[in-house]
Amino acid sequence: MRLATKLNSKMRKLVLTVLLSVTLLIPFKPALAQDTGPVYVVQPGDSLYSIAARFSISLDDLLAANGIADPNSLAAGQQLIIPGLDGVSGILDTKFINFGDSYRGLMRQTQVPDALFRKLNHVVSPSEFYVGTNMIVPLQDQTQYSKRVSPATGESMLELAVKNNTDVWSLNSINQLDGSWAALPGDTLYAPGESSENNASGLPSAFISAEIRDLPIKQGGTGVITVTAQPGVKLGGLLVDHQLQFFPSQGGTLVALQGVHALLEPGVYPLRLDATLPDGSTQSYEQLILIVSGNYPEDPLLYVDPATIDPASTEPESQQLISLTTPATPTKYWVGDFISPAIAYAESTYFTSRYGNRRTYIGQGTELSVQGFHTGLDFGGGDGLPITAPASGIVIFAGPLTVRGNATVIDHGWGVYSGFWHQSAMQVEVGQSVNLGDVIGLVGGTGRVTGAHLHWELWVNGVQVDPLDWLNQPYP
Ligand SMILES: [Zn+2]
Repeated sequence: MRLATKLNSKMRKLVLTVLLSVTLLIPFKPALAQDTGPVYVVQPGDSLYSIAARFSISLDDLLAANGIADPNSLAAGQQLIIPGLDGVSGILDTKFINFGDSYRGLMRQTQVPDALFRKLNHVVSPSEFYVGTNMIVPLQDQTQYSKRVSPATGESMLELAVKNNTDVWSLNSINQLDGSWAALPGDTLYAPGESSENNASGLPSAFISAEIRDLPIKQGGTGVITVTAQPGVKLGGLLVDHQLQFFPSQGGTLVALQGVHALLEPGVYPLRLDATLPDGSTQSYEQLILIVSGNYPEDPLLYVDPATIDPASTEPESQQLISLTTPATPTKYWVGDFISPAIAYAESTYFTSRYGNRRTYIGQGTELSVQGFHTGLDFGGGDGLPITAPASGIVIFAGPLTVRGNATVIDHGWGVYSGFWHQSAMQVEVGQSVNLGDVIGLVGGTGRVTGAHLHWELWVNGVQVDPLDWLNQPYP
């Protein structure tokens, strides 16, 4: 009897221990995820909606696959099963595509088969590979390659292999090449071994590196393209439809600033870099870049004096402004952040109208209407308040205009210009150099206005951009 009880209690303990370990194991059981689909690790800033959209699945399917009852409960680091991806398992990762990354390069680096990559990202062809987007790649168990190598003109795969302490077979296999003839000069290949900094990217040999800040660029945003090139190389290029202007900057880099128009349809557009080598030969590299919506709201209809929206008076004035703000002065007059031109009288966050708002102007008592957007930043405050220079520069225009009233334009260099409209008085002259904080004029209500206020706008290589960006961070 006693013995039986003892045994019984031992058995119970054993059963309890087994049960406990099973309970402990269940949350870590990875087979569950692999049975039903691959796993995505939630990143900061993700929402269930954005994850469902990224994988082109419905929110309901995502919730059901993960047994989520409350769509608001989502934490970074949480693992979500992604349904509907038959034959895919393991952990899915995202890779941000920057300029110089190529479709073939990503395949080779991650060793993800082409068909799987297309399925995960819902792309039909490599031409849908855009700068500024996130691509989904499965984290493979097998090695990822980070050492980039690039065959020089006339260099054979054997020479390239020997130079990188590997063999032709490995290079062909890693880079998914059919044979040693399938690599082109300047192509990005991956080789076994450690990556060394400053290695060749997908860019041609004239370029050492290229970087674009704050991707993806929004409507009304300022693109900052920083390039390190080989000595003696002259740079040009194009973003959307504007010719880039490069200027020497810190550390031997060349920088181009380019505004993106507020009304440009969101989508993908070309970014091209052109290099002219000292021997006169040229190399170019072009990639598609994603431009996203600025989410600008629609303003209520604006009823104005018909004369101020008559193309006969507005067109010559617009053209005059475009020709004033088109040249790119090689001297950069500003340093660091811009400071609000209304700093002397208004809080730096006090705006009565922001940049980008969609506007419809209606000529009072007429059928005339004009579509546009708000090209600058409006500051509240009445007649006679002081306007200060938001950055140093040279005054290139000061005079009356029909729509813009008493107007002053300052050249800050590198194709960056400030415009100040509707002033009651202009206190600077053309040719005068001004420093950050100097009083340049007084707030007024001249031109196409409903009341006295300061309108400040900023041009970057021929395009009006959101000046708030320039108050919040330094350029370049
Ligand atoms: Zn305005």
